[in-house]
Amino acid sequence: MTQPARLILASNNAHKLAEMGALLRPVGMELVSQGSLGISEAEEPYATFVENALAKARHAARHGGLPAVADDSGLCVDALGGAPGVLSARYATLHGQARSDANNNAVLLQQMAGRNDRRARFVCLLVAVRHADDPEPLIASGRWDGEILEQARGAAGFGYDPLLWIPELQLSVAELDAHTKNLHSHRAKAMASLVEQMQAVWGPGGR
Ligand code: IMP
Repeated sequence: MTQPARLILASNNAHKLAEMGALLRPVGMELVSQGSLGISEAEEPYATFVENALAKARHAARHGGLPAVADDSGLCVDALGGAPGVLSARYATLHGQARSDANNNAVLLQQMAGRNDRRARFVCLLVAVRHADDPEPLIASGRWDGEILEQARGAAGFGYDPLLWIPELQLSVAELDAHTKNLHSHRAKAMASLVEQMQAVWGPGGR
């Protein structure tokens, strides 16, 4: 049996590793986290998801000597001009609180208090490179539309999952089991597009 192709995930987020690993395994690719290879986190200084994802993928490929994939993702809320956006992971720190999912959610609820327009979406940008200086990075995006709840619902998932209501499912993202989230999510949509590109451009098994 052929060994799966190894790909570094340019993140130490265990939730992303689990979600993306489950989506890549069926197409013969094995994800290894950059942390397990001793690679530090890259800086994410840019204003767009795509620029941050490219910087993270290049950094992981440079230090790990393998192809790498990076996810830059977040929650974009219409009434907040797209915030927290690329700052989703550290939103609470912008409001003087420690960085944590619970604090991010509390700050978001404060910012949304009294607002009628609650439209929002999870956005995921994936970038894959064969090596650090790959001039042809593969780029894929996915969006998942919903509405910000007035209070948290559900206990699964991570990040802002308890605050995004998905009207078509009549559930919050944190009320979905992992399998169902992986059928519908922004990350799943982006991953389907990325896998298609990997197979077309890199060849079978992502090689
Ligand atoms: P990144 O690691 O810099 O890409 O930051 C991603 C942040 O966006 C996470 O820390 C979460 O706050 C948020 N986020 C991204 N994807 C999801 C998701 O699937 N569910 C909930 N929050 C998410």
